[in-house]
Amino acid sequence: MSVPAGPPQGNAVKTMEPRQRRTVVTPSHGEGAGGKAVSSPQPRGFAARLIRWHKRHGRHDMPWQNTTDPYRVWLSEIMLQQTQVTTATPYYERFLRHFPRLADLAAAPVEEVMALWSGLGYYARARNLHACAQAVMREHGGEFPRHPDVIAGLPGIGRSTANSIATFCFGAQAPILDGNVKRVLCRAFGIEGFPGNSVVEKRLWRLAGELMPKREGGVYNQAQMDLGATVCTRGKPRCDACPLDDICVARAAGRTGELPEPKPRKTIPQREATLLVLCHDGRILLETRPPAGIWGGLLSLPELPEATDARQWAAQRFACRVIAVAPAPTLEHAFSHFRLRISPLLLDVEPQSAAMESGLRWIAGDDLAAAALPAPVRRILEALQASGSSPLLSRKR
Ligand code: SF4
Repeated sequence: MSVPAGPPQGNAVKTMEPRQRRTVVTPSHGEGAGGKAVSSPQPRGFAARLIRWHKRHGRHDMPWQNTTDPYRVWLSEIMLQQTQVTTATPYYERFLRHFPRLADLAAAPVEEVMALWSGLGYYARARNLHACAQAVMREHGGEFPRHPDVIAGLPGIGRSTANSIATFCFGAQAPILDGNVKRVLCRAFGIEGFPGNSVVEKRLWRLAGELMPKREGGVYNQAQMDLGATVCTRGKPRCDACPLDDICVARAAGRTGELPEPKPRKTIPQREATLLVLCHDGRILLETRPPAGIWGGLLSLPELPEATDARQWAAQRFACRVIAVAPAPTLEHAFSHFRLRISPLLLDVEPQSAAMESGLRWIAGDDLAAAALPAPVRRILEALQASGSSPLLSRKR
């Protein structure tokens, strides 16, 4: 599932150096710390500049900061992937109210987790979040592991996120490489190529390892994320306010608009789907999507197979009499790898049997807000509710 949610805006979180025992990190992924210097200028002083800058100009008051609780740091890290801080914040707070401890999240049904995640997009994150909480309970006695390599073995946690958690919570000195950090490094060191390319990424990891200071790793990692989110932004970097302004290769070369190089363009295919909005007595029919694939595990509107008559198909599949069929306005939705044009069809129906296939549910309009719906499906239903032009969600006439 890949609902776009805007550019990454930084990741975790805390700015104070934890007091716990320091974890010794042995790089073991690809080309971790310890490779050759890759570029001028000399990285010496790079970390110190960022740490100094962060103390005065960094972000210090995000809700997940000033804690070394790995549950909170991990939750924020996952939510902030591909998601802006302003979007993720209410979800983070809502999650903690529902699941104050990791054990609460692990014990909850996955449907409840998906419902709370509804609207945040990239739903594999929610499924992995739940699986990860269960793995920590099952395999680590409810305690988050401390070493980055062990953390990276948990569901849904990549190398950068694992290093981030280990740095912020357990005092590890482990480099991170999220979107903001990649942008800063590509510009400061004049690194060519798309940062998602595996060769470029390896080079960035090696450089990130070289630059990692021996102390204040948490402050340094947060500083890189904050610099990328607030100064070295994608569109208009504020080089005059940057602590790297006199050593930055991109600035000196007048290439801040060219680096990092964008992803090579591919034509994004357009797909079509017809979703059926079956209405009866103020309720609509929703079905649970299969766990894998787009909107996996969420509730959605039934999708009409291609070249099929909606009236006949719905009558057979859902054992109902179709009273009326009407089109509703179409909606475009962008996924990471294709665009989807959704044509909803409204069907006023009369069920002919009380028996229901598993995975199908009639849901009343008042209950839609709490249902785990993908964002485009929610938009379709809200538009229909707002238009008042259909029998949808109005009680039987
Ligand atoms: S000088 Fe400008 S381009 Fe270079 S790292 Fe700073 S903000 Fe980014």
